[in-house]
Amino acid sequence: MSEEASKRTQEEADAPDLECQSDDSSDEGDASGDTEMDFLRSLFSRTLGLSPGEKVLDELTLDGVARYILSGKCKNIICMVGAGISTSAGIPDFRSPGTGLYANLQKYNLPYPEAIFQIDYFKKHPEPFFALARELYPGQFKPTVCHYFMRMLKDKGLLTRCYSQNIDTLERVAGLEGEDLIEAHGTFHTSHCVSFLCRKEYSMDWMQTKIFSEDIPKCDSCGSLVKPVINDKIFILGWSIPLRLKFLSSQSTFSDFPRCDLLIIMGTSLQVQPFASLVSRVSNSCPRLLINMEKTGQSEFGMGLFSFGGAMDFDSDKAYRDVAHLSTCDDGCMALAELLGWKEELEQMVKREHALIDSKDAKKKDKEASQNSKSTGAEAGKSDKTE
Ligand SMILES: [Zn+2]
Repeated sequence: MSEEASKRTQEEADAPDLECQSDDSSDEGDASGDTEMDFLRSLFSRTLGLSPGEKVLDELTLDGVARYILSGKCKNIICMVGAGISTSAGIPDFRSPGTGLYANLQKYNLPYPEAIFQIDYFKKHPEPFFALARELYPGQFKPTVCHYFMRMLKDKGLLTRCYSQNIDTLERVAGLEGEDLIEAHGTFHTSHCVSFLCRKEYSMDWMQTKIFSEDIPKCDSCGSLVKPVINDKIFILGWSIPLRLKFLSSQSTFSDFPRCDLLIIMGTSLQVQPFASLVSRVSNSCPRLLINMEKTGQSEFGMGLFSFGGAMDFDSDKAYRDVAHLSTCDDGCMALAELLGWKEELEQMVKREHALIDSKDAKKKDKEASQNSKSTGAEAGKSDKTE
C-alpha cells in the first residue's frame, strides 16, 4: 500500500500539470481516476509526441529483457498469446488443408471453415462444432513450456494478466486462473444454453460428458442447444463492433496496460483486431518482447484504428524498446528462463505437471473401462441381482 502511494507521488511529481486536477477528485474515485489519468497521459503523450519514451532496457536483446526483470523494477508483466504457443502441444489448425482435422470436417460440407463458430449455422447444424470440440477438447493436450513459463511468472508474482486468443484452455490447465486470464475469443470452460430466455450455465465436466458420449448437448430446462462460450463472428474481418468495444473498454483492458512494465507477445501474428491493437496500450516507455517465428506488428497501417502510434519498431535507428526473439515460443521461453536462472525450475515444473496429467488420464481411462465392463455386465444379466 505504501509502495503504491509512493509510486503515485512519484507519478504526480513527474506530471505536475495534472496534480491540481487530482486534488479536486474525491478519495473514493482516486484509484480509477488514477488509472484513467495514466491512460490519458500516455495516450496524449504518444499521440502528440510530447514525451518521447524512456529507454528502459540497456540492450534490445533477450539478455537486456532478462536483466530488466532481474533488476526488480519490472513488477507488472502482461502476456499476449496466440495459436503459436499451442502448436507444440499438437493442437491442429482446422483451417489447414492436409491435416486430419480438416479432412474430418470435410464430410459436414461446411459452406466455409469459419461457419463452424457461427451461432446461426450452429443452431441449424450443431454436429460439426461438436466434432471439432471432441478433437480439440481440453485434456486431450498438455500445456507447453511456454504455458508453464507464464505459470512461473504468476507464481513469482510478476504476471498482471495473460490475454489469450486461444480457445484450448491450456492456460488454465497450466495453472492460470480466472482472474489471471482474458480469453479474448472465448473458452470451453463454461457453456450456456443458447436460448436468450434461458441462458442456463453448464460446467466443463457436464459438457465433457456430453461431447464424448457423442450426444448433442441439450439444455435440461428448455431443451435448446448448449454451447461453450466461444465468440461468434471472430474469425472473419476481426470482431463485431459491439464485441470490440466491450473488449477494449473492459475494466481490466483499461487498467492493465497503462501500468504494464513489460509486455511479452508470443505466438501471434497480431493480425486479428482489436486484439492486435492492445500492444499500443502500454506506456511509451514499456519494453515489448516478441517471441515468434517471424517479426510482426511493425506496420502502423496493420495495427488499425486503435493504434495511436504503437507499431512495433525492432530495427530502425529510433528503436528503443522493442525486442524480437525469433524462435518457437517454447525455445524462447526456455532461453529467457535460463537467463533468469529459472531454467531448472521450469524444466521440473513441466515434467511434474505432465506426469500429473498422465496419471489423471490413466485413472480416468481405468474408471471408464471398469464402467463399461460393469454396464455390459449389467446388460448381459439384467435379472442378476447379486452385488
Ligand atoms: Zn435452456
